[in-house]
Amino acid sequence: MDKKTIKDIDVKGKKVFVRVDYNVPFDAEMKITDDTRMVRTLPTLNYLLDHGAALILACHIGRPTEAREPQFSTKHLVKHLSELLKRPVQWAEDCVGPKAEEKAKDLKPGDVLLLENLRYHKAEKKNDDAFAAQLASLADVAVDDAFGVSHRAHASNAGVPKHLETVAGFLMEKEINYIGKTLEAPKRPFVAIIGGAKVSDKIGVISNMIDKADKIIIGGGMAHTFDAAKGLPIGDSLCEPDKYDLARDLLKKAEEKGVEIILPLDLKVSNMFPADEKYATEGKTKIVDVDKVEDGWDALDSGPKTSEAYSKALDGAKTIIWNGPMGVFEYKDFADGTLAVAKAVAKATDEGAISIVGGGDSISALNKTGLTDKISHVSTGGGATLEFLEGKEMPGIAAIADK
Ligand code: AMP
Repeated sequence: MDKKTIKDIDVKGKKVFVRVDYNVPFDAEMKITDDTRMVRTLPTLNYLLDHGAALILACHIGRPTEAREPQFSTKHLVKHLSELLKRPVQWAEDCVGPKAEEKAKDLKPGDVLLLENLRYHKAEKKNDDAFAAQLASLADVAVDDAFGVSHRAHASNAGVPKHLETVAGFLMEKEINYIGKTLEAPKRPFVAIIGGAKVSDKIGVISNMIDKADKIIIGGGMAHTFDAAKGLPIGDSLCEPDKYDLARDLLKKAEEKGVEIILPLDLKVSNMFPADEKYATEGKTKIVDVDKVEDGWDALDSGPKTSEAYSKALDGAKTIIWNGPMGVFEYKDFADGTLAVAKAVAKATDEGAISIVGGGDSISALNKTGLTDKISHVSTGGGATLEFLEGKEMPGIAAIADK
């Protein structure tokens, strides 16, 4: 990686400003329901602490306003963070100004201070330079481990580096190494799997993958827009008619570049959506070929011939990027297609492929298959992963010091 990491700097006796992504979900009692994002920063934090640093942690929760809605306070993270780090965690009632400065001033090596929600200040999202300077003034050096916000130019990730040398934490390094390097020089064959609800959410990813991949599997709801654009009947399936031209353009671009696009051969259709109360008693499903979807039927998953074709396309792949489920995986009747792809990706990974899953709903879809551990890299970003896969410049990454 051409960016500096925490291994390239000496942090002994220094106060280190660490931007982390602790935007975790809470239940009604403000208990954290999934601490994955916190756990994944522990290698960085423990490394810094073991090397004699004092930590000043900065993050955001939710979308607060300057009214400082209490449910978005970072104080709800303190207890759990302290348990994870096995040491006390101090908390500052603000992320800048006297309340933060006072607490930061007295930190000793091994101490940890968590700042209040950055987004209680509008200046954070505006990447206000004076605010960034205030944040930077708390510390001697900065670390960015918040990949999840790296597609945004905010004060804490894009502004602070103008005032303080900023290096990548281990989590950030892993994301850059996996996604960045893979896109730069993929081992071939490179297969991209793109699913999920809508084409409109993934135009950039599909387009970038046509430039880079050898084969693209298109599944899930978005496949119906491609099918309809080709003149196939899609019944009541999800579809975006205003994207037919775009779908045709993408198919044409792929053909010109010699990229194989693999669309469904058969589909599992249903007479109603499984969320419908009547589904339990009146729901019917059947498998039909892709040219036989009738009105009144909604295609909600891949059929077996499709899953077989997708698996065949993944056989022998050396690089795989997967974004988005192959069907309405939230319901077990429509999860087979996603499971089949997860199995094929796991098999290819076992045989030496590098596999990366991330963006949108992909992680929960993968978790449902129970095959998460079989994947080389599960990206922590949602929107950030998507934009990275689109090949866009990531302001948070660009701001990290070069080696
Ligand atoms: P995304 O966030 O773009 O990855 O989209 C994930 C969502 O797409 C999930 O909630 C799926 O239920 C939904 N989805 C996948 N396939 C279909 C389909 N055939 N029809 C409707 N929704 C779908």
